[in-house]
Amino acid sequence: MLNKIALSKSEFFKNVEIIKGGKTRSQSVKNALINSKFNSKYVIIHDAARPLYSTKLINKICKLIRSNKYDCVIPYSECSDTILKDNIDIDRAKLRLIKTPQAFRKTKLIKLHLNNTNKNITDDSNLFRTNNKNFKIKYILDKYLHIKITYKEDQSSLNELIASDQRCGIGYDIHKTEINKKNNLINLAGIKIKSKIKILSHSDGDVILHAITDSILGALSLRDIGTYFPNNRNNLNRDSKDFLNYALNKMKNKKYNINNVDLMVVSEEPKINPHYNRIIENLMMLLKIKNDQITIKATTNEKSGLIGKGEFIACWSNISLVGY
Ligand code: ZN
Repeated sequence: MLNKIALSKSEFFKNVEIIKGGKTRSQSVKNALINSKFNSKYVIIHDAARPLYSTKLINKICKLIRSNKYDCVIPYSECSDTILKDNIDIDRAKLRLIKTPQAFRKTKLIKLHLNNTNKNITDDSNLFRTNNKNFKIKYILDKYLHIKITYKEDQSSLNELIASDQRCGIGYDIHKTEINKKNNLINLAGIKIKSKIKILSHSDGDVILHAITDSILGALSLRDIGTYFPNNRNNLNRDSKDFLNYALNKMKNKKYNINNVDLMVVSEEPKINPHYNRIIENLMMLLKIKNDQITIKATTNEKSGLIGKGEFIACWSNISLVGY
């Protein structure tokens, strides 16, 4: 059962009204329609049991209902299985598998729900379909894979589908540093940090953004930063956010979102912990992700090697992307 207090505290549900459901699906919808304080002309109803809905479908439905030509918009798919009723084949070409999300004119839907006596309707479009002479109904064919999670076994099919569209990438960056006894400002994760070192680089030397950029490009099989931003005059002292945004745009074009990022900074100086919150907040903003999708670990090299002697700063980025 959903915990109302936990939901209301969640950032994700910040602008969500939580309304107690009823004993049946139609009673829950009726409660929501009657008690919602949202003032709108249209309403979209979706079954949570269909988590793979597409944004493209939602946009199409919104456009159609807002055209004011229809009272409801119903997506359906065609039936590809052979169907028997009482051992007799039914012509599957005539069958439509009705899905959600469905869009409605809100006043008409409320009126139908208030007059409805059948508590077992399986979806809201039923109220319009059974009075189809009185309403303008628009059916749209949806060919997207749009499975409904009904039985326990459906969960494993869903997991396989989600897992099949994940990619991961690794990024590594290292820059030479110079000890500079005066407090210096260095670029790290897109912010300025006071440090006793100076980072030597053709660009602005932001190892964290360089490593993240390379990990995104790697996950998309698009080689590395140097391929797109060579050490030429154009890129001298260049803001590393340009590199990152380039990779993020490639990611968006290929329809991937960031699932999570795991970062490891290796350096003697600066210490990351005092700046942890600022770094994380800036990366959440740049990458458009939430707190639980990113972390940074920082370590020294225990005085060994050139990093240990404070002559270099390095960063590893491990990223996971998920398709949408
Ligand atoms: Zn670099």
